[in-house]
Amino acid sequence: MARMSPSALRSAFVARYGRPAARAARAPGRVNLIGEHTDYNDGFVLPIAIEQSLWAVAAPRHDDALRVYSDALRDLQTWTLADGPHADAPRWTRYVHGVATLLRRRMPSLDGADLLITGDLPLGGGLSSSAALEGCTALVLCGLAGCELPLEELAAICRSAEHEFAGVPCGLMDQYASLLSRQGCALLLDCRSRRFEHVPCRLDQHALLVVDSGVRHELASGEYAARRRECGEALKLLRRACPRAAALRDVAPADVARCAADESLRRDAGAMRLLARARHVVTENERTLAAAAALRAEDWPELGRLMSASHASLRDDYQVSCAQLDALVERLERCPGVLGARMTGGGFGGCVVALVEVPHAQGLVAQLNCGGDPAAPRPVLRVVPAGGAERCAL
Ligand code: ADP
Ligand code: MG
Repeated sequence: MARMSPSALRSAFVARYGRPAARAARAPGRVNLIGEHTDYNDGFVLPIAIEQSLWAVAAPRHDDALRVYSDALRDLQTWTLADGPHADAPRWTRYVHGVATLLRRRMPSLDGADLLITGDLPLGGGLSSSAALEGCTALVLCGLAGCELPLEELAAICRSAEHEFAGVPCGLMDQYASLLSRQGCALLLDCRSRRFEHVPCRLDQHALLVVDSGVRHELASGEYAARRRECGEALKLLRRACPRAAALRDVAPADVARCAADESLRRDAGAMRLLARARHVVTENERTLAAAAALRAEDWPELGRLMSASHASLRDDYQVSCAQLDALVERLERCPGVLGARMTGGGFGGCVVALVEVPHAQGLVAQLNCGGDPAAPRPVLRVVPAGGAERCAL
């Protein structure tokens, strides 16, 4: 990977703004190993941060203006902290504006700035470029304001920016993974208590491959909202069995099974669909905790098995996969050395993550890169558990 060196960051900034940069920060993308659609149900997730990152390079201004250039989009946008971007400014400005606005409430000394956003993290490809954009912006602006906030607080601010300004009702996972991960570890996060544990993920004999399906479905955000709603309805249904459950986190697979066996519900297709949604969430929580235990024990076949079981559950019970993701997972699972594979991210397209034994990894990458169609190579990334966001020397 082409890491951005301090001199590359410095000269990119001078070339853009004609003056030296004062601060820089990096925030990584993430791949979720397991724990999908559990975060907004108060459950568990197990992502890793990856080396692919976004960098924010900045110099302070003595007025209220934010000038922000995105290298990836080749787009320069300017607005004032007081007024925000124009209503028809491109959508990406909302993430930056949201972070700056929420940070200014916390640290009134924050002034305007010139910002450059650069890096090697694919935009909108399911690797959480939005959280990386928020994270590097937040860290660099804190640096300019001379203010240190705990990373947990920054993660909460970034998530609020995504909710309130970008209009994406995401869970906590992406921002925690980008800001709080540790190199060589996966991040087991309890989305209820926000407690987390860095679980060693020693990939000496194994590789994690991320394969982009190339599919981006328009329906993803609508279906995401629908699943969140269905989880709320499923919880109401399950309160017959678990009256004190505050979230699906508090429900056990046996409770779902008991409800699903209820004669009065068995004939109600809508209720059975809601129970299937719940079954995914409650079994996925168990799988995520089991996956963390498998990582600690370096039981890679078990981790692979759990990843594949997660995919089947997302496909059949939660119904957020699609034909291309399913075909890719099936194809990977048939390849020698592959211990498990699953869709990662919200679904309806995006990426598949596969756990592969190292001797087979290179051949598999070559095979996937051609994909049977040399004209349309499939982007395959080999990822390793990287460290979370950090200030960078310039
Ligand atoms: P993901 O977070 O999985 O990559 P999202 O749809 O959540 O996908 O976020 C992608 C959006 O984040 C982009 O459409 C854009 O608005 C913003 N974004 C991400 N990376 C950049 C970047 N380098 N420059 C500008 N905007 C970016
Ligand atoms: Mg995102």
